[in-house]
Amino acid sequence: MSEDYTDKKYGFATRAIHAGNDVDRDSGAIKRPITMANSYALPYDPTDLNWSGATGNLYTRNGGTNQKYLQERVASLEGGEDCVALASGVAALSGLFFALLQKGDHVVFGSVTYIAVYRLLHELLNNKFGVETTMVDTTDPKNVEAAIRPNTRLVHIETPGNPTLMVSDIAAITEIAHRHGALLSVDNTFASPYNQRPIELGADFSVESLTKYINGHGDAMGGAIVGPRKYLDIIRAQSQVNLGGTISPFNAWLIMRGSVTLPLRMEKHNENALAVARWLEKQPCVRFVAYPGLESHRGHEVAKRQMSPGFGGVLSFGLRADHDTHNRFVRCLKVITSAVSLGHDESLIVFLGEDDERQYLFPEEFHNGFFRFSVGLEDVKDIIADMAQALEKTGLEVQK
Ligand SMILES: *Cc1c(COP(=O)(O)O)cnc(C)c1O
Repeated sequence: MSEDYTDKKYGFATRAIHAGNDVDRDSGAIKRPITMANSYALPYDPTDLNWSGATGNLYTRNGGTNQKYLQERVASLEGGEDCVALASGVAALSGLFFALLQKGDHVVFGSVTYIAVYRLLHELLNNKFGVETTMVDTTDPKNVEAAIRPNTRLVHIETPGNPTLMVSDIAAITEIAHRHGALLSVDNTFASPYNQRPIELGADFSVESLTKYINGHGDAMGGAIVGPRKYLDIIRAQSQVNLGGTISPFNAWLIMRGSVTLPLRMEKHNENALAVARWLEKQPCVRFVAYPGLESHRGHEVAKRQMSPGFGGVLSFGLRADHDTHNRFVRCLKVITSAVSLGHDESLIVFLGEDDERQYLFPEEFHNGFFRFSVGLEDVKDIIADMAQALEKTGLEVQK
């Protein structure tokens, strides 16, 4: 009989290691193996099987075993009833929206979110499927309240938000959504469940791009929705069986492996990002730094209430420099890699130029181009030295 390591009597780090893992009954191996089979043996009489079901072992698009193990772990870490793991973070977001929303429903969502949320809600579901949408600055809960309509079914927020790091108050927005009979989903990717657990703060759903911190090694894509089983069963049936967004067994296994060290990695990401943010704040050539862990961040008080023990590994900042100087600075970096994505082991930086169509939605300091910087797990002195040498080579002043 195996122990239930998803139980909250166990601490976060213990659950990150043991939840969803067990001794393999066939071989005695102490790590569950990867099951790459597309199909599972049918019972003697399969007439009672639901070919569109997503529970039993049938066909890997309907759900595979590695996916199930990963779901047990992520549900436990997020503190939710159940979890669906899908092929990417965007598959998780679209799975949630397609399952919950239909023609005539209304959604309120944040003006600072992952770009695909904007495309999915504001363009696809709105224009093509008749879902009404209102985009608001969710850093002030009053804006959410004012946007609610009688047919509002869902409020979707992202905190901290990609790419501006703006913070929204999960508990306050939950209260508003629930008072009006709407559900609240929170994209928790930037914080990871180590630093923030939206469901414990009242949200109905927590959505994660597993591609980022939970896998943590920049080598597998996945996404997850954590929340009440009655909704997740609908998502499973639609997103996996009928839309085909199932996660591959190998990716589920890789993410399971990566997630073991989530607590250790987040501890270091939190520490390194705060040190880098403080260093950047001292530089005369830096126009602004946005990191929820800085006292100067406008969302710091809310972040302190809902994030613990730290504020994640992503920050954004702008230089007092023109477009080309921003690009030259990136070209001079050595330790820090210029690439999209975040939450990897290595430091990643991306220049988000002045031509982003959503810049008008961002706070003013973001209007002239800025960097999103995912601070990695390298020695922090090397990260800072790399930035210093690149700023100097670009002709910008560095304060030691
Ligand atoms: C990357 C990201 C996503 C999308 O995840 P993918 O795994 O790339 O599909 C969603 N939300 C946030 C906040 C992200 O950073």
